[in-house]
Formats: sequence, C-alpha cells, structure tokens
Amino acid sequence: MRILVIEDEEKIASFLKVSLEAECFAVDVAKDGEQGLKLALENTYDLIILDNILPKKNGIEVCRDLRIARKTVPVLILSVRNETLEKIDLLDAGADDYLTKPFILEELLARVRALLRRHGGMQKTTVTVGDVTLNSKSCTVTKKGKPIQLTRKEFMLLQYLMQNEDTVLSRGMILEHVWDMSTDIFSNTIESHILSLRKKLGDNGKEKFIQTVPGRGYKVATQ
Ligand code: CA
Repeated sequence: MRILVIEDEEKIASFLKVSLEAECFAVDVAKDGEQGLKLALENTYDLIILDNILPKKNGIEVCRDLRIARKTVPVLILSVRNETLEKIDLLDAGADDYLTKPFILEELLARVRALLRRHGGMQKTTVTVGDVTLNSKSCTVTKKGKPIQLTRKEFMLLQYLMQNEDTVLSRGMILEHVWDMSTDIFSNTIESHILSLRKKLGDNGKEKFIQTVPGRGYKVATQ
C-alpha cells in the first residue's frame, strides 16, 4: 500500500511518514500543492493525505483537479479547526473524509484503514492463503501458527501478493504499490526481497508459495 502525504509543515509531514511507515505503508511526501498534484497524477497511490492550506495550490484545489483528471484515489483532507471549511466544500471537491488538526495518530490510522477498506485496496485485516496468515493491523505473519519475522519491506511485498491471491503482479505494479520514490528501479530490489521471503516462508523447489510467472511477474497461490 502506497500513500502520498501532501503537507507543507515539515514536522507533521515527517511525523506522518515515520508513523505510516511503521504501519507498513510506502510513503511519498510532497511539500506544496503543485508538486503534490504532479506526483498524484504520475503515480498510482492507494490513498492521499492532503493538508488543506498549502503553498502554490490549496488542498481543495488539488482534490478538485484530481477528480477532473478522473483519479479515483481516496483522499483524506487535514484542516485546522478554525478554517472556514464546510463539509459541503469538501464533498464538492471530491474528498472522501477529513480530519481536523491537531489529530490523534490512532484516529488518523483508523480513518486511513477505513478508507482503504471502503475503496477495496485493503479488503480485510487478516488474509490467509494456504497455511500462511498475514495481519495488516499488527504487521505480523504466521505459518502454521508460528510467527515469521519479516523486514518491513518483505512484509509489504507479501501483503500485496497475498491480498491479490492468484493474480499475477508485474514488476511495475509491485514497484508502484510497495516501494516509494526513493527506490532505484534498476536495482534488483524486488528479486532479492522475493528470494528472502521464499527462504523465510520455507518455499522448497516442489511447491512454491510465491510463484514466478516467466515474463509477467509473481503471484501467490496454494497450488
Ligand atoms: Ca499547511
């Protein structure tokens, strides 16, 4: 799951990035409305957290432009309590939810999860494929009930694969949803993470939990 945070207040932006990364999301940050809109149009995000008062272009305008461009990504707007921001303006602009600053992290995370569920990105908190179970809330994975220790990136990759069981995911799709902008797309990042995931999941030569589909990508399947 990849999230774009558009926020000019550096403290809040870095707090959001760190907090969301700790919840196993890939996070990009834009510091003004124009840069935010550009990134949102260029990339495929699962969710956008959008501050309302921004340099160059305010949140409502960014949201409106996204909808005009037919981007259906869920948008959560952040606004301060005394802004004359009416619910109707937000709905008109195509926002899906809003939260007033200062906010409590737990509430923000709950709203993020609710929006992702509603928009189909994150269907269930727990996914089970074969004897592997992944919990997106606690960021844990078990196989036959035994916990498996994964790095944050390995977890995110497995989460994306398991939530799309039986679907072949290309390198490009994986990069879009699991990695943020800081990734060098020419490195063998995906391959090395798949390799280490297979090792940790105990995949042997005969039955592979993570399957390579030559020329197309990877998929998770029980047979
Ligand atoms: Ca601001």
